[in-house]
Amino acid sequence: MYLDRMIFPIETLGPGQRLVIWTAGCTKHCKGCANPELWETRGRRQRSTGEIAGMIRRIAAEHHIDGITISGGDPLEQAHELLELLDEIAGITEDILVYTGFTYDELDSVLTVEELAHLRSRVGVLIDGRYVEDLNTPDTALRGSSNQDIIFFKDELRERYEQHMAQGRRIQNVYMGSRLISVGIHDREQ
Ligand code: SF4
Repeated sequence: MYLDRMIFPIETLGPGQRLVIWTAGCTKHCKGCANPELWETRGRRQRSTGEIAGMIRRIAAEHHIDGITISGGDPLEQAHELLELLDEIAGITEDILVYTGFTYDELDSVLTVEELAHLRSRVGVLIDGRYVEDLNTPDTALRGSSNQDIIFFKDELRERYEQHMAQGRRIQNVYMGSRLISVGIHDREQ
């Protein structure tokens, strides 16, 4: 699986203190994408899902994590590896949020019916659809543009997400070595 980075704790991509994973690889190339450096997989090393799950488990053993967010890139462009990873980290948290540039209805291009059911059983919340710059409005907490939907596969998470989204968009700046990473959903002018 192509993985770019993993950061904990992040409070701006879902409720609570979360572990956030950014996969690399996205062919959708939305205009104004916040992470164009994550489009390309050429020249990147692939990691096994076991190795990535081991990294996640080590963080979870040392810290209480409220949830995991998987972003990218588009994690669903590595759909089979994502399913494997979700199996390997099952039990760490029920609150797993996945971002994808596919719409939910397009997921049948990368997943069989059984695999989609599998995804739904492992993921709590899916935020779907391409980023559309003209639809980037500040009132869409957790979403880059208003065409994207928040789909709850685990309805018990809904209230917690609604409380988080009521706070609006927030940004958290994190240093990784000398690299400054701005994490969250950015307004268009940002
Ligand atoms: S789907 Fe997401 S990661 Fe891919 S180009 Fe669009 S905004 Fe960027």
